[in-house]
Parts: sequence; structure tokens; C-alpha cells
Amino acid sequence: MADTPRPDQLGRILRIQEKPRAGMPERPSLLDLDRDQLASFLSDEPRFRTDQVWTAVNEKGLRPAEITSIPLKLRGRLEQEFPEPLTLVAQQTSADERTTKSLFELHGGAQVETVLMRYNERATVCVSSQAGCAMACSFCATGQAGFERHLSVSEILDQVHWARRTAEPQRLSNIVFMGMGEPLANLDRLFDSIDRITGEIGIGARKITVSTVGMIPAMETFAEQKRQVGLAVSLHAANDDLRSELVPINRRHPIADLIDACRLVRSKTGRRVSFEWAMISGVNDRDSDARELVRVARSADAHVNLIPLNDTPGYPTTGSSPQRLKAFANELRSRDINVTIRSTMGDDIDAACGQLANRDR
Ligand code: SAH
Repeated sequence: MADTPRPDQLGRILRIQEKPRAGMPERPSLLDLDRDQLASFLSDEPRFRTDQVWTAVNEKGLRPAEITSIPLKLRGRLEQEFPEPLTLVAQQTSADERTTKSLFELHGGAQVETVLMRYNERATVCVSSQAGCAMACSFCATGQAGFERHLSVSEILDQVHWARRTAEPQRLSNIVFMGMGEPLANLDRLFDSIDRITGEIGIGARKITVSTVGMIPAMETFAEQKRQVGLAVSLHAANDDLRSELVPINRRHPIADLIDACRLVRSKTGRRVSFEWAMISGVNDRDSDARELVRVARSADAHVNLIPLNDTPGYPTTGSSPQRLKAFANELRSRDINVTIRSTMGDDIDAACGQLANRDR
């Protein structure tokens, strides 16, 4: 929270959670409040208002002006007191109409992107957890641009509410924390958001996947809390030299430790992790890479999810050919590794894996 004084009324109800962080919103949004905080803000209103407002905001995703069941004056007060977390700046839909990407502006001017993917019966949203990213993976557009700041709980949740509205009449059934940023570097807010998604929004933990570069201490917390959300690990290379080049955090958290952390997650949560592997021509798509991957996937008891490499401005190497991708998958399968190939969606609007960035920078 910021070092500028908050309005008295809010100072009364807010937990001071942590030391100031550059650029975080100075005032909380309605979606940042827990139920007790909302109740205390509404303490001079009839008691039932807390339930009414809580349900409208957290379950239905309404903005104050849309809560027609409460008096106009209270709507105005809520609007005045609590800023909207996100302002929609631009929205684009792919030619096949299955993918919609939105660009949002946050308080302080940082921007993030959110991607909605429509399947036949349901929809999935890919949510950002930070503006920018500090992990600096060479082949990822977000990593190429650098880190701006963490997202607050309301900024994460509002992306989910945007996706629910935009998906209609389809039902938003799945959430992947695979947008901009490293979710496990923003752990408290990630967990608070997930609790609100499973509790108030009603999307089960098993329908949520969090992707990480392999932040081991946070993975251990994840395991200890027996979190039932899926965990995907961006592996991309199964030897330390190559992985340190592609995913620099590997210098701090090498593969052997990462395998231990995956095993811990497996044993504590009962759920296998999956390994993400972007297929980069001549870099990590050779038969020898497949053999290394087999060893690591076996010892971590992990699934493998192969991702066709998407183009980004700062990485010249091309993705593997479709034939190479297939041969690599077959090589893994022949050694009893469970493999899926991620389908590419929205690459015509730069909405595919690794392509999210702040366009206006
Ligand atoms: N920071 C987290 C969350 C981002 S998830 C993480 O890295 O896991 C985005 C996924 O897309 C990650 O697996 C990432 O490694 C992968 N990715 C990044 N750039 C890509 C690209 N150009 N093509 C395909 N996948 C990419």
C-alpha cells in the first residue's frame, strides 16, 4: 500500500499488509475488501446491505452503478470511495473469433493483457498476475520487456469478471495463470485471488492452473498448503546449461532442486505437475533433448505439454516444424511419457503464449 495517507474512513477498515511497493494502487477497490472490511465500511447501513453488496460485487462481478438493488445514494458513495481496478483500453478478437484479448490500464499507468479462449462448450481465461515480468526468459515477450509491478487482488479478480462477461453466453469454466508475470512471485495475492475464485465465483480449484518458472520456495508453500490447483512448470530444457540460458532463474533454482519441489507437490497435493516445453528449432527439439526430458519427467512424475513456439520481437530463433514437433512427441510417448501438444490460439492478434506485452510502451 502507498505511503500517502488514505481517507480516514478507509484507514479504519484496512489491514496494513506490507511495506509500500512502488506503483501499487493507493486506494483499495471494492474487490480488495474482505467481508469484514466491507461490513465495517457499511456499518451505518442496515446489516443486510453487506450481503447484498458482497454478492453483487464478488459473485456477480457487478460495478457499483450496476447494483440496482441498493439505493442510488449508496451506489454513488461506493463509486466515489472505491476506484475501478481496471480500465479497458483496447480489445481485439482473432479472425476465427475464438480468442479475445483485452488491454487494461491499471492505476499508475501500467498496462496488462488478458486473453479469453472459447471452446465449444466452455471458455478459459488466461490471467496476468504482474505488469511485466522480472524473470527475463529470452523467448518470451513479457520477459523481454521487464518488470513493472505486482497486481493487486482486485486487479487479478477483475480480469476474471471481465472474462465471464465477455464469454457470455458461454460459461467461463477454467482459469490459467499464464498471462503476464510470474504468479508465484506475487504469492499472497495469488492465493487470496484463488480463494475468492473458488469461494465466491464458484470455479473449482481443479479448474485453475498456475504456471511458474520454478520458484522453489513458493512451490514448497504451495505443496504444504495442499493446494488443489494445477501447477505447470516452464521447464523448456532438461539440462542446467541450456535451461539457465532460456530461463535465467535456473541459476538460482537448478533442475535437481526443481525436481525435488515437483515431487513434494506431487506427494503433498496428490497432483502431478506438468512441464511446459516451448519447441525451439535446433535449440531444445533434438532427439537428445527428448531423452534428457524423459529422464527429468520420469523422476518428477510429470506430464509434458509441448508448446509450438510463438514469434516475439526479441527472439530471432524460429519454432520447430510441425513434423519435428510430432516426432519429438512420439519419441516421448514411446518412452511412456504422458504428452499433450498445446493448440495455438490467437497468434494473429499476438495473444498466444509468450506474446503478451505492453503495446504502448
Ligand atoms: N511466468 C510464468 C507464467 C507465464 S505462462 C511461467 O513462465 O510459467 C506462459 C507460458 O508460455 C510459459 O510456459 C512460458 O514459458 C511460455 N512461453 C513464453 N514465451 C513463449 C513463446 N514465445 N512461445 C511459446 N510459449 C512461450
